[in-house]
Amino acid sequence: MRIQFIGLGNMGLPMAGNLRRAGHEVTGHDTAPRARDTFIAQGGYIAASLAEGAAAADAVITMLPAGEHVRAVYLGKEGLLRCAGRGSLLIDCSTIDVETAREVAGEAAKAGIEMLDAPVSGGTVGAQRATLTFMVGGSDAGFARAKPILAAMGKNIVHAGGPGAGQAAKICNNMILGVSMLGVCEAFVLAGRLGLERHKLFEIASTSSGSCWSLLNNCPVPGPVPTAASERDYQPGFAAALMLKDLKLSQQAAQGTGAATPMGAHAARIYEALAAAGLADKDFSVAFRFLDAMLRDRAPS
Ligand code: NAD
Repeated sequence: MRIQFIGLGNMGLPMAGNLRRAGHEVTGHDTAPRARDTFIAQGGYIAASLAEGAAAADAVITMLPAGEHVRAVYLGKEGLLRCAGRGSLLIDCSTIDVETAREVAGEAAKAGIEMLDAPVSGGTVGAQRATLTFMVGGSDAGFARAKPILAAMGKNIVHAGGPGAGQAAKICNNMILGVSMLGVCEAFVLAGRLGLERHKLFEIASTSSGSCWSLLNNCPVPGPVPTAASERDYQPGFAAALMLKDLKLSQQAAQGTGAATPMGAHAARIYEALAAAGLADKDFSVAFRFLDAMLRDRAPS
């Protein structure tokens, strides 16, 4: 298939590379010259303009930082909804707010173009290894068309529901992750104060009711899990800045829908304080170091 890939950053570049390796004809586009140069250096082709690439494509995939970028690329004067072919398929893999995802999908439907939201989980390693999980929102027909394309970049491809359902799944999942990671971090801080050995807490909690993904796979204290970010001075992994972004999206959605998510709100405040302390670029498990250095009375309320 002829595929245009827009947004050749940390995630988009390896994803576009996997599509090329799967035999697709991929045209890249990015506003940053450095991203374009890297794509060309890897043997990729850059179209003269977004419009030219989109007009010739069977499918267009976007992997952009946030909702405002998605709006600009899809709804702008020379955006995708104006220049993509009517029979083409548009897939947005960025993590953005549900409202924007639904609005842009609605505009695409009015223009007679099939669009899906398909945010991912698995990070840059999953993007490189083509093992991403895709959470897809949109029609059954659109999902059936997208599945073989997404299969070149990921392992698990799940149809979450109608437009926006992919983004809804992504922010709910990451709210669980943020809250559970902070719970695990707090337990290790308290264990330390109580004189309980980290290895012992891990051995017991990992086979007890306190077990969860954050403890088993990304244990926030060095020692128990050799592949965890805590073993390499909290190099990400999944950066705290991205966790904060996703927690803010969950809170925006909670406010918009009237859902009570007090733990999510508190987690967002803690990650905000952690980012203000200069730890935004570290893995999100660095919350252990942040909380361990904090006295009880100074915790963000
Ligand atoms: P990134 O900043 O590395 O890449 C985004 C790219 O989009 C940049 O190269 C930027 O120049 C380009 N861009 C911005 N505006 C553009 C426009 N108008 N037209 C064309 N190109 C434009 O970000 P990333 O880490 O690749 O993340 C992309 C998305 O994936 C984000 O929504 C992020 O939340 C999500 N995500 C990231 C990870 C991760 O581990 N990095 C994991 C899961 C999901």
